Amino acid sequence: MTPSTPLHPATLAAQALGFVDGATGAVVPPIHPSTTYARTEDNRPISGRLYSRADNPNYDLVEGLLTRLEGGQASAIFSSGMAAATAVFQSLRPGDHVLVPQVIYWALRNWLLGWATDWGLRIESIDMTDPVRVAAALQPGKTKLVWIETPANPTLAVTDIAALAEIAHRGGARLAVDSTFATPVLSQPLSLGADLVMHSATKYLNGHSDVIAGALATRVTDEFWQRCKQVRVQTGSVLGPFEAWLLLRGMRTLHVRVGAQSRSALTIAERFSRRPGVVAALYPGLGAFPGHAVAARQMRGGFGGMLSLRVDGGAPGALAVMGRLQVWKRATSLGGVESLIEHRASVEGPQTTTPVDLLRLSVGLEDTADLIADLEQALTG
Ligand code: PLP
Repeated sequence: MTPSTPLHPATLAAQALGFVDGATGAVVPPIHPSTTYARTEDNRPISGRLYSRADNPNYDLVEGLLTRLEGGQASAIFSSGMAAATAVFQSLRPGDHVLVPQVIYWALRNWLLGWATDWGLRIESIDMTDPVRVAAALQPGKTKLVWIETPANPTLAVTDIAALAEIAHRGGARLAVDSTFATPVLSQPLSLGADLVMHSATKYLNGHSDVIAGALATRVTDEFWQRCKQVRVQTGSVLGPFEAWLLLRGMRTLHVRVGAQSRSALTIAERFSRRPGVVAALYPGLGAFPGHAVAARQMRGGFGGMLSLRVDGGAPGALAVMGRLQVWKRATSLGGVESLIEHRASVEGPQTTTPVDLLRLSVGLEDTADLIADLEQALTG
């Protein structure tokens, strides 16, 4: 039976769009490991599917749910966040001009300045937090894509999605948003005018640090979207069926996880923003944070589970604080149920633009008091 009123996103997620297996009544979908699909006697594909390098039945609910959560027309899952992001750039043409942020996930920046540039994309990095600069850098007719990441990894810099969508469209470009930190729970960039949304589904969408995956959602299923999907098929950047199944399982608890992580992160940011030994707490939920007003406009229900702390003593000071932690795990990645901390400058290497005194924190689902006590003892030394 169809519910009489539209269901809320958390309900759609918890029920995996109301899935019930028609054959068995199971409320959890099966895993489809088959790589190939049979045809009828007159050689027509029975289900429309041919081969699992194109897609897999386990994608259907994940993509359908993400499309509903993002408010778009379609979604596609990929073998990683990098695969999803690079599919967008590979769908451009040699010579196209692209604006990307100065603060951007470092592996994507490296790929853009290396491979993508070698292949003929004209990549220009600018400060996306300043719409006036973006408008000045956009070359009408030549700039085909404006790529933003908000809040950005690892400084949490906030970009005004609606303002940049307007600027991009005025110049004939598309706006794509890496919304990994925001999640579809807190922000829906497509409703603010963006054309594409990208997620490292490895992070909050899956939420349990046990799947590498990526996703794109699109406002319209136009020719550019078909090219992005073609990249997945032709380069084979497909997610395995078991990973897609796990991803759906993770997404069913997305709203409750992100809600709790956002509340905990805000408490931690507030607690440490004025503590001696902390140079700055970077968190969009703090009133004094430069991007707060924009974040408050374009994020609903919280500001996310990610924050960064800049601490006294430069890199040695930051590494010493991190080394004393007992509850927070020293590991890369983010968005899982366990709290992680990382010294980004060490990971990013000599080319890094990340402040060397910065520690990036991914707040998990532990009791907030335990997380605060551990940070407190580590900062005290
Ligand atoms: N975008 C952001 C903001 C990220 O933090 C990451 C990974 O850390 C990626 C993209 C890349 O995702 P993946 O590691 O799933 O390829």
